Amino acid sequence: MIFETLSVFPEVFSPYLDASIMGRAQRSGVFSFLSHDLRDWTHDRHRTVDDAPFGGGQGMLMKPAPIFEAVEDLASRGNVRPRVVFFSPCGARYDQRAAERLAREERILLVCGRYEGMDERAYALADDVFSLGDYVLTGGELAALVVMDSVARLLPGALGDEMSAVDESFSPAGLLEYAQYTRPASYRGMDVPEVLLSGDHARVAAWRRQNAIERTALWRPDLLDSADLSPEELARARAIARGGEGE
Ligand code: SAH
Repeated sequence: MIFETLSVFPEVFSPYLDASIMGRAQRSGVFSFLSHDLRDWTHDRHRTVDDAPFGGGQGMLMKPAPIFEAVEDLASRGNVRPRVVFFSPCGARYDQRAAERLAREERILLVCGRYEGMDERAYALADDVFSLGDYVLTGGELAALVVMDSVARLLPGALGDEMSAVDESFSPAGLLEYAQYTRPASYRGMDVPEVLLSGDHARVAAWRRQNAIERTALWRPDLLDSADLSPEELARARAIARGGEGE
C-alpha cells in the first residue's frame, strides 16, 4: 500500500506515522508514505493556495488550480493510479466498512483541506469524500491520519497478532466489541465476570457475543439495523435498547 498526502502542512504526518505500530509497519514494508506540499504546484512568488470566496463571507478558500494540477500530476506518476480521497464535514461518514474497502486499494492519495474549505470544483477530482463526524476540524490532516491508521492496521502483517484486527468493534458482525479484562480478577471491589475465568471456551464465546449485543443495544442502537444478528438476538437487543438495560 502506498499512502500519499497533499497538504499545506506536509510535515505533520511523520511524527505519528513513524511511531509505534505505524512506524514498524512502514519499516517492514506493509505500507509506504509520501507527503506532498500543495504549494509545490503554485506559480506565484508567494506560493498562494487560497483566495476570498465569491459572494462574500468570512475566511479564505483553497483555490482549485493548485489542487487540480497537483492531483493530476501525482496521479500520472507511478504504475497505479491512486484512489483520490477528499475530506469535508459534508462528506460521507467514514467508518470501518470504508476502511475495509480502502484496504483493498494499492495507492491512496489523501487531499487535505484548510481554511474555510475548498472551491467546490476541486471535489470533481475525488473518488471519495469522507467526513470523520459532525464537527469541524481546522484541516484535513487529522482526517488523513485517521484514514491511514485505520486502513494500515487492516493490512496483512501490520499488527503483530494476525487475529487482532478480525475480532473487534464493527467487524465482522457490525457490533461493538465485548468488554475485556486483564489481571487482577478483583480490583477495588469490581470483579471480572466469573465465566471469563472458567477456561470454558464455548461459554466464554457465548458470553462475549451476548455482551457485544448488549453493549451495542445500550450505546449504539443505531448499529443494530445493519448488524449480523439472528431474529431472536435482534428482538432481545431491541428490547434492551428500548428499556435502557439488560434482562
Ligand atoms: N467550511 C467548511 C469546513 C472547512 S474545515 C464547512 O463548514 O463545511 C477545513 C478542512 O478541514 C476541510 O476542507 C476538511 O479537509 C477538514 N475537515 C474539517 N472538518 C472535517 C470533518 N468533520 N471530517 C473530515 N475532514 C474535516
